Amino acid sequence: MNSELVSLAKRFHLSVVAQGKFPLESEEFLLQILRSEADAREKRAIAERTKQARLPTYKGFDEFDTDFQKGITREQLTTLESLEWVDQAFNLVLIGPPGTGKTHLALAIGNKAVENGYAVSFSSMDSLMHILKTQEISVKSAARVRWINKCDLIIIDEVGYLPISKTEANLFFSLVSQLYEHISLVITSNKGFSGWAELLGDSILATALLDRLTHKCQVLNLEGEGWRIANRKQIF
Ligand code: ADP
Ligand code: MG
Repeated sequence: MNSELVSLAKRFHLSVVAQGKFPLESEEFLLQILRSEADAREKRAIAERTKQARLPTYKGFDEFDTDFQKGITREQLTTLESLEWVDQAFNLVLIGPPGTGKTHLALAIGNKAVENGYAVSFSSMDSLMHILKTQEISVKSAARVRWINKCDLIIIDEVGYLPISKTEANLFFSLVSQLYEHISLVITSNKGFSGWAELLGDSILATALLDRLTHKCQVLNLEGEGWRIANRKQIF
């Protein structure tokens, strides 16, 4: 019997089909039906993962110009795109001034990961903090936290743009500790690590957090005046 049919039948718990208890002439027909079912399920799963990832726009690796951004090479970009580092639970921290492509890279990674079957969450630091703070009182936030806990890759955009309260600093620390060594975290920030103690309002907490975050981590410092300024569009 066709081995693809056996594995599809097992996947869908069709024991009669898996055991080959059907007329031989039905084999091709069954194979086509089960293939269609498998395709449809795969499409639904991709659609669901895409929705849950909440990536605000599409950005790809191909559109990223490494001549403009010298902080990352083509080879490094290819390594990031391979996503092997996600399987190894490496973290990635993208640091740089506004417009240097931090969010672009984070989105390109997120999109690629969703396409390749990973569960992803994208959020700004601010909205993530809101979700974590309201999980006890909001059904929506609680559902989001459940999704985040299932993710293979968590992207937190714009750490350091807005001030962080003491409660938020503790929540951020708990999250980083909880994910440590088993889930990949991608963080974008306009502040270098030296500014994180002030950002978190607690140098001991900042040291402990950075210790975990950077243990298995690639830090990329993006530089330059920023793409937006260089490519400023005008009405007149
Ligand atoms: P940041 O998050 O660092 O503030 P973004 O990633 O949002 O910056 O980049 C701002 C805009 O410029 C986006 O539209 C982005 O696609 C584009 N951009 C930035 N850097 C590059 C680059 N090196 N190549 C192509 N587009 C870029
Ligand atoms: Mg950004």
